[in-house]
Formats: sequence, structure tokens, C-alpha cells
Amino acid sequence: MNFMSAMEEMYRKIGISAEAIRLGEKAEKACAAHFAEIDRIAEYNQIKVLNAFRECRVGEAWFAPSTGYGYNDLGRDGLEELYAHVFGTEDALVRAQLVSGTHALSIALSGNLRPGDEILSPVGKPYDTLDEVIGIRPQRGSLAEYGVTYRQVDLLPDGSFDFDGIREALNSRTRLVEIQRSKGYSARHTLSVAEIGKLIAFIKDIRPDVICMVDNCYGEFVEITEPTDVGADMIVGSLIKNPGGGLAPIGGYIAGTEECVANAAYRLTAPGLGKELGASLGVTRQLLQGLFLAPAVTASAEKAAVFAAQIYQDLGFHVVPRAEETRHDIIQSVDLMTPEALSAFCLGIQAAAPVDSFVTPEPWDMPGYDDPVIMAAGAFVSGASIELSADGPMRPPYTAFFQGGLTFSSAKAGVLMSVQKLIDASIIKG
Ligand SMILES: *Cc1c(COP(=O)(O)O)cnc(C)c1O
Repeated sequence: MNFMSAMEEMYRKIGISAEAIRLGEKAEKACAAHFAEIDRIAEYNQIKVLNAFRECRVGEAWFAPSTGYGYNDLGRDGLEELYAHVFGTEDALVRAQLVSGTHALSIALSGNLRPGDEILSPVGKPYDTLDEVIGIRPQRGSLAEYGVTYRQVDLLPDGSFDFDGIREALNSRTRLVEIQRSKGYSARHTLSVAEIGKLIAFIKDIRPDVICMVDNCYGEFVEITEPTDVGADMIVGSLIKNPGGGLAPIGGYIAGTEECVANAAYRLTAPGLGKELGASLGVTRQLLQGLFLAPAVTASAEKAAVFAAQIYQDLGFHVVPRAEETRHDIIQSVDLMTPEALSAFCLGIQAAAPVDSFVTPEPWDMPGYDDPVIMAAGAFVSGASIELSADGPMRPPYTAFFQGGLTFSSAKAGVLMSVQKLIDASIIKG
């Protein structure tokens, strides 16, 4: 038996037909040059991370867990030094006690703002979960309740920055500018690090004292530079996305100037306590190993997104971004056009997951959403979107947002399985 027929036989065992494999072969060939580019970026970032591990002298003693107050936790302090090194910042806060990306963003904001200050978002509305943190939607404990106001300048219709609008919006109360790197689940494009650099330079030129904070979620290691290389005072993200490398079981990070990080730490624990407290409870080794793997895992996820874009654009679906476009995050969207197709897509992603492959995703009424949402995820870490996952609201154009993939081969199987489910439902022809 030659290798190709052995491969087909193996795919057949998980229910993927020769037709789907052939569509995949064609798509993967078309992606070759793009994949090579992604691998080069991963190589650069891998050496960047390895260099930080060497220079920070990471040692086995760092793996020891601490309990209670967690004073003098060598590994926790070392991990934070490592993050600061990788992101080129003065300091970092990297904690299991930052329970999610939203929590890290909330701590970064509330730690660095005082009553009377104003936040400016110059890139349109921030990520949904920040609505209640900031108080765009009223919520108990929001920044609005503490007298922090919010202003927003939308991107221009062509997606560029509204520099005139931003200049007008900056005022004597503006204390912090919040720049979201990834489009998340909104319609705008994801910002490149270069674009973020231009925006920060413009703002600092008018107001050098304003804090430029970047929501870095989904963007880490996709390029060879990070927002802190182009002037950001503080970047914030989730460890169950890119920088956790799929191994972090929980956590968030804030990296930036000593002052920004200290302000955040005083808010996370207590004024006067700051970074000195916070037991690592034994997760340090996973956070270290996850950071070490992060460049490769991010590259796998990005290749999976490019591959999905290629196969679905070849099938005639509208995808964002298109396969050939340069990427700045790991999110892919595919407009599936009918509820049946969106359900079949999610069924395929779920069926190729290593965990809960036997589960059928059903649309449900998620709190805070107007339409039922369907989700596919079979992850080792609950809710980890660096692992292959997809979700979409049940409304036209029935868009699936797709991200993650711990290995390219497993994510490719997920994409092929989604194509197979569309073939099985006679939505597309094999
Ligand atoms: C994921 C994400 C967040 C935070 O989400 P959590 O689910 O709370 O971790 C914030 N901003 C963006 C752009 C994100 O992608």
C-alpha cells in the first residue's frame, strides 16, 4: 500500500472521504508560500522566547509550587521577568489569579485610572465583555460608577484611523487610550503592529503623558514585533489564548512600564501588597512550558485559519480574511449562509476534537446575545480558544468564527471534517 492510500485509509477511519481529502490537498498546495512565511515568523519568535529563557536563567527550581501568601516564589517572579523580557517591557504581572482576559483588562484599567479620568478607544467599540467593565452598559462596580468616563472614536468607513476625530477627543481628562489589536468578533479588520505604532506615535505626539494600553488578545506571536516594541505602555492578554501555548490551565498577563504594572498589581491584590503575594499553586511549570511552545502553537493555529480560508473560499464562501492576506491574529470567519450549513460546520469541528468528539453542538440562548449561538469546542482547558473551536450567532449570514489548533494536523482534520459534514448534508458537492 503506498503512502497516499494509507493516508486515505486513516482519514476514512475518522469519517473523512476521499473527496474532502482532495479539496484539502488542493487548498494546502495553494497555501504553501503563506505557510512558509508563518513558519519563518514562528522560528524568529521561538528563538526570541528561547533567548529569554536563557538570559533569565530559567531553572528547575522555578517549578516548585508555593501556597498561602506565596512570598518569595522564585518561579512566579521569574516567569514575570521572562514575560517582561519577551515583550521588551520593564515589568509584567502573570498570574493564575488573573482568571481571564477580561479580568486582566479590568485590572489593568481600574488599577491605572482614578475618578475623573477618561478612557479613549480610538478604534471603535472594544470587546463585548468590556462594555460592563467600562460601564458602556451599566453594571455594578463598573468604572463609570467610580467616575471614570469613556469616549470612543470609530474607524473611518475605509477602516483607517480618524486622526482628526482622535485629536478632538483627546482632552485634559484623557488618561488612558485602549487599543484593541484583534478585531475579535466585530466587523473591522485586525490591526497590524505597524498600524498600532502609527496610532500610538500620533497620540503621544499630542499627549505624551497618556497611557497607551493594547488589548493584545489573539495577537501574540503572530508577527515578529509586539505593540510594546512600538510604544505601547502596557499590553494585556489571556493565557488560555496564544501565550499559554495550550498548556496554561488558567491565567492572564499584563506587561508594561513598571508604574503601569505596579498599579495593576496593587489593584489585583491590595495597595501595599502588589506583586509580593499570590501563591502559584503549582501552575508555574505549565505557564513556562506553555510560553515556550506558544510561537509554534500560534503558528499552527494561524496555518489552520489560512487553510480554512483557502478551502472555503475555493468552495465559493465569503471568508474574512482571505487566505492570501497577511494576518495579524488567529481568527477566521466563514459566512455559511444557512442555519443548516453553520450547524454542519460546527458539527464537523466538534467531531474532530480530541475531547467530547461525540457531542452534537446545539444552538442555545446565551446570556447577553440577541440570537441563539452555536459553539463547537472540545478542549483540554475549558473555553481555551487556542484549541480548535468555532462559534457563531444563528442569524444571517450565518458566520462561523473559527480559531485555534494545538497542532496543524489536528486542526486540518477539523476543517476537513467540517467540509465532510457539509458534503454529507448535501450543502456542497464533493
Ligand atoms: C478573548 C478576548 C478578550 C477577553 O476574553 P476572555 O474570554 O475574558 O478571556 C478580550 N479582548 C479580545 C480582543 C479577545 O479576543
